[in-house]
Amino acid sequence: MEKIKMNTPLVEMDGDEMTRVLWSEIKEELIKPFVELNTEYYDLGLEHRNETDDQVTIDAANANIKYGVAVKCATITPNAARMTEYNLKQMWKSPNGTIRAALDGTVFRAPIIVKGIEPLVKNWKAPITIARHAYGDVYKNVEIKVPGAGKAELVFTGEDGTVLKETIHDFKGSGIIQGMHNIDKSIESFARSCFNYALDMKQDIWFASKDTISKKYDHNFKDIFQDIYDKEYDEKFKAAGIEYFYTLIDDAVARVMKSSGGYIWACKNYDGDVMSDMVATAFGSLAMMTSVLVSPSGVYEYEAAHGTVQRHYYKHLKGEETSTNSVATIFAWTGALRKRGELDGNNELMDFADRLEEACISTIESGSMTKDLALITTIENPTVLNSFEFIKAIRTKLEESYK
Ligand code: NAP
Ligand code: MG
Repeated sequence: MEKIKMNTPLVEMDGDEMTRVLWSEIKEELIKPFVELNTEYYDLGLEHRNETDDQVTIDAANANIKYGVAVKCATITPNAARMTEYNLKQMWKSPNGTIRAALDGTVFRAPIIVKGIEPLVKNWKAPITIARHAYGDVYKNVEIKVPGAGKAELVFTGEDGTVLKETIHDFKGSGIIQGMHNIDKSIESFARSCFNYALDMKQDIWFASKDTISKKYDHNFKDIFQDIYDKEYDEKFKAAGIEYFYTLIDDAVARVMKSSGGYIWACKNYDGDVMSDMVATAFGSLAMMTSVLVSPSGVYEYEAAHGTVQRHYYKHLKGEETSTNSVATIFAWTGALRKRGELDGNNELMDFADRLEEACISTIESGSMTKDLALITTIENPTVLNSFEFIKAIRTKLEESYK
């Protein structure tokens, strides 16, 4: 077969540890034999971030904005232990945080569904995508441990001298207080990213918060969503046959549990943090979760939801066999290649992405899988493959699909 051509480069962000090992294997075994791969490569491995004073992350984010689509490998977010391990000049910021800030984007996480890895919630049949607002609220809070009796106040002083003041509480004894904020511009970007993504996926979207209790704070989110929806998206949604609605967070939780899936659930920052772990776990495995960052202007960055799988990497370095699941990383590639194909009108590339995903799914459904899945599958006597055998098994299925 003749290799599929790509007109526009895909922005490729390499990463760290076990996922870096899988990254090159995926490219060599599953992509390059079929596609004349055209990427602009950025090495976001921690060593290179350190050498470039993290400039490489900024360059990669700018390239993402320039070309529109990127695929990213998991990367180490440095902590104290990594400072010594990699002899770092500085505790560099999380690359995901840097890219998210540059794109002003929202992260959408969705599980990959295969027969034999059954959700714990038995009526879930289609993926549930969680959209998490990634700015503010309790993540940018200030807190005071109140030592004893006294008055706590919430005060805003405008640049023009306006003062707005509310009493939080008249303390009779010790206690705690917390201040948090959000910004209309950020909420607006969040809403647009959500609506664009829903149109992309042709799926309904719900936004839920607690506006009955938080009559100004959460209500502001609700109003912004509704306002943008009415002005910019109502017609587009009707044409696409999809729906947007707002509901209370407690109602949303009840609906989710009773649903069969196949929609997007937009959450405030904290709700998204908690609910995405709940949904991921209930669907079966972190190694089967995809993640895409979408900017309000329609820039996309695809990745796996899991990290660099450090423990497996140390085993790999010692020459021991690993059985690391590459599916979410492969789906990051297919997501990015499909989107690139869509933007360029490249049907062959989109078709390739479909075939590669199908090859992953049919490999697992035929009983060949990595250890993490073998532990939870309902398929009897699964064949447990090592990291590399698993990718080779997918290659075989992919080749068969072109015969
Ligand atoms: P992790 O890499 O997600 O792995 C946690 C554990 O989950 C693994 O030890 C493994 O369990 C299991 N696991 C995750 N992915 C798997 C896969 N593909 N196949 C099989 N098992 C898998 O999280 P972490 O160990 O907490 O973090 C490691 C590094 O990743 C950190 O430096 C962190 O900063 C970084 N990180 C990056 C991103 C990102 O770039 N998006 C996200 C999260 C974390 P067993 O060991 O029990 O087999
Ligand atoms: Mg969390």
